[in-house]
Amino acid sequence: MTETQQEYFGELLLDKKIVSALHHMGFEEPSPIQAATIPLALAGEDIIGQAQTGTGKTAAFGIPIVQNITDRRGVQALVLTPTRELAIQVAEEISKIGRTAHVRALPVYGGQPIERQIKALKSGVEIVIGTPGRLIDHLNRRTIKLDKVRFLVLDEADEMLDMGFVDDIEAIMDYLPPERQTMLFSATMPRPILSLSKRYMKAPKTVAITKEELTVPNIQQYYFEVKDKVEGVCRLLDAEIEGKVLIFCRTKKGVDDLNIALSSRGYLVEGLHGDLSQNQRDRVMKKFREGSCEVLIATDVAARGLDIDNISHVINYDIPQDPESYVHRIGRTGRYGAEGVAMTFITAREFRQLKLIERIACTHIKRRQLPTADNVIERQREQILSKVRTVLELNSFAPYVPIAEDLLEDYEAAEALAAALKLGQEGPKALEAPAEEKLREDLQNTGGRPGMVRLFVNIGRSQKITVRDIINSIAIEADIPARDIGQISIYDRFTFVEVPEAAAEKVLAAMDRNTIKGYRVNIEPAKLRR
Ligand code: ADP
Ligand code: MG
Repeated sequence: MTETQQEYFGELLLDKKIVSALHHMGFEEPSPIQAATIPLALAGEDIIGQAQTGTGKTAAFGIPIVQNITDRRGVQALVLTPTRELAIQVAEEISKIGRTAHVRALPVYGGQPIERQIKALKSGVEIVIGTPGRLIDHLNRRTIKLDKVRFLVLDEADEMLDMGFVDDIEAIMDYLPPERQTMLFSATMPRPILSLSKRYMKAPKTVAITKEELTVPNIQQYYFEVKDKVEGVCRLLDAEIEGKVLIFCRTKKGVDDLNIALSSRGYLVEGLHGDLSQNQRDRVMKKFREGSCEVLIATDVAARGLDIDNISHVINYDIPQDPESYVHRIGRTGRYGAEGVAMTFITAREFRQLKLIERIACTHIKRRQLPTADNVIERQREQILSKVRTVLELNSFAPYVPIAEDLLEDYEAAEALAAALKLGQEGPKALEAPAEEKLREDLQNTGGRPGMVRLFVNIGRSQKITVRDIINSIAIEADIPARDIGQISIYDRFTFVEVPEAAAEKVLAAMDRNTIKGYRVNIEPAKLRR
């Protein structure tokens, strides 16, 4: 037996190679149908899986099949799909899953010259994805051998039955070894499917992920790519949020940590999670309702069933696990026709998950930048003025006067005073160069051609990186057109790549600490050698 290394994908322990492929595909964690079916599939069970379109059923069977293919002895898995488009799509997805493990998948469908398919089949593939009609064709011509098939998948089974493929499916099953694992996936489960499964499956386990209709409330939705989330929340609270805020964290610990971080910065916040007693919960809710606390931090579970209106903002401090939870969370604001705003924080690596939420919840989440320190100060103007006036009236600043006089010898009065205010307002942070400014400066001198910025990437030829890898990763992760990417120079240990000025910050945010071909990426503005 060959030793295979394993790694976690969410809660699932899978082949390391597969996990690396999944990360490359931008998958962060299993979708609910995947989390529910993959362990059963790996345990050898027959499965009936029901979940809506777009919930990731392909990988739900693709992952366990790829993981179970450990040799190159012919076609070992057969996937039946109703249409050629689906066959192609499923084959593409499975090829991606199997890429690092070198498991090959081939679509076989009507409308493509059969000779080409015969040639491809001869060259050796482990997984065939086909439409029933064309498969029967191959079986009649004896150009496909299915006697090694250990896995059969009926994908989109309801559609196949609707299209009248029952007889074809049953005919194909006669060619398969009886010792096999059968999985059936479908968005709906009409009766004929159940009778088919009774005849051809062995004690199938049913996994149903049924959903209520997702209706996204009509509120403003934004997302922010943030490096420092605590700082992000503070900026929003300081510069623009008015009214009651509900902040969602993924875990209890997340709630506690953020509670401490915000409290210690002087915000009136309360945390809510499953560890609180009923009494404590009631107390928190009372404060929030009455307004002596304006910011409530909660986990999804704790927020369930909370009865609170007039929340003006929901902040997803951690991106929700799935589209349902996103819709539930943001539904807490904008009640009764009031204007609501939902803000979601993502790290660069979570961009894909955001896109999945958008797609499945059929909504659009606009990208936004956090308010700047200037925005915050604008809003705090009155407060700062009144504080300074109070100090002046108290007339208690005598020890500082000689220092002020020293400063005034070298600086304009307004400058000196502004610097002192900044120090008073921001503390030690005032002593650092602003990060955005430094980045903007760095982006100006990268040696890129006009309109372009040259970026340095810490991987190169020794990692077997190709121009195509670079283009694909950047185009997909940063969501920019591949043709916008400029010159790429690959060296042994690093690579230079040019991207348009306007996209540079986005590319940096999306790629830094991301991976290309499984290698951890550091990316930064290139420096000109002087
Ligand atoms: P279904 O067969 O249920 O309609 P698909 O398998 O076609 O759904 O998946 C829908 C989309 O979601 C595809 O683009 C797929 O790559 C993507 N997807 C699937 N699983 C995940 C995951 N765990 N994380 C992110 N994206 C995923
Ligand atoms: Mg599907």
